[in-house]
Amino acid sequence: MAKLLIVDDDMTTRTFLSLAMQRDGHQIMEAWTGEDCLALAQQESQDMILLDAQMPGMDGFTCCAELRAIMRDQCPPVIMITGLADQASVDRAFSVGAIDYATKPIHMAVLRQRVRQVLRERELMHQLATINQQLAAANRELQHLTRIDSLTQIANRRCFEEILAKEWGRLARQQRSLGVILCDVDFFKQYNDLYGHLAGDRCLKDISELLRLSILRSADLVARYGGEEFIILLPETDAAGTMCVAERIHTKIRNAAIPHAGSKAAAIVTLSIGVACTAPEMTEHPKHLLDIADRALYDAKAKGRNQTVMRPYQSSAV
Ligand code: GH3
Ligand code: MG
Ligand code: MG
Repeated sequence: MAKLLIVDDDMTTRTFLSLAMQRDGHQIMEAWTGEDCLALAQQESQDMILLDAQMPGMDGFTCCAELRAIMRDQCPPVIMITGLADQASVDRAFSVGAIDYATKPIHMAVLRQRVRQVLRERELMHQLATINQQLAAANRELQHLTRIDSLTQIANRRCFEEILAKEWGRLARQQRSLGVILCDVDFFKQYNDLYGHLAGDRCLKDISELLRLSILRSADLVARYGGEEFIILLPETDAAGTMCVAERIHTKIRNAAIPHAGSKAAAIVTLSIGVACTAPEMTEHPKHLLDIADRALYDAKAKGRNQTVMRPYQSSAV
C-alpha cells in the first residue's frame, strides 16, 4: 500500500482517480489546487503525486517545479495528468521534473501500470539506499577493526606504522622532532607460565590502559606492537620530553604493582624501555628510528631490565 496525493481542480476526475487507486489498495489524499498540493506534500510524506497540469491559479507545471525546488531529494515522484498532448507540454512536464505523463481521457489500465511501475522503482531505490548505508557502516567497522588490536582495544601495529609514516613526513616538513618509546614486559613468558594465559591477557590489557594514561597530548599514540611489546609515538617531542614520558610509564607501572612472582627483575610486573628520538628527514626511513629504539630496548634488557635506555639517533647513511 502506498500513499498517493491526487491533485485536480475537477471533482469528477479526482473522484474517478481516487476510487481506482483505492481499489488498488492505496491510501489517498486529495487536493484541488497547486498551492494545496505544495502544502500537503510537505505536511505529510507521500509516495507519489498524480498532478493535473491545467488548474486555475498555480498550474501543475509550476507546482511540480516548486515541489522539486523545495523538497529536493525528498520530493515524491510526480505523474503529470493532462488533456494537453502536444509536444511542448509533454517536454515541459519532464523538464520540470515529472517522472511520467498520462493524457486525458485517462486510460485507467495503463495509468495503474505506470503507478505500479513508479512505486516499484521507488521501493527499489529505498532498498538500495538502505543497503548502501549498511555497506558504509560495515566499511567503517571494518576500517576500525583493521586498525585496532582486539585484546587491548588500542591501535595495532598496522595503524601505528600508518601514522608513523604520516607524522614522519609532517615533522620533516616542519623540522620538529619525534620521539618513540618501545616497551617490552619483563619475563612475561614466566608470567603466563605462573598465572595462566588468561591472566596474561588481563595483564596486557591493564598495561595498555596504564600506557594510555601516561600520554597527555592528543597527537601522542599508544599501540600494541607485538605480543607483549607496546610502542608510543610522541610527535613534536625532544629527547628530554621522551625520557620524561618513559619515566612516567615506569612510575605508573610500579604504582599499579601487579604481582609477578616469576620475574627476576622485581616482585611486580615491570617494563624494559628503549627510547629513540630524532628530527625526521625525508631522505631517512622511519623504520630506522624504530631499529634504534629496538637496540636501546635490547640494551635495557641486557642491563638487568626494569629500566629505560636511550640510544642517540644516527643517520642510516653513517
Ligand atoms: P624478557 O624479559 O626477555 O622480555 O622475557 P619474556 O618472557 O617477556 O620474553 P619472551 O619473548 O621470551 O616471551 C614473551 C611472552 O609473551 C611469550 C608469550 O607467551 C607472551 N605473549 C605474547 N603475546 C601474548 C598475549 O597476547 N597474551 C598472553 N597471555 N601472552 C602473550
Ligand atoms: Mg618481547
Ligand atoms: Mg618480554
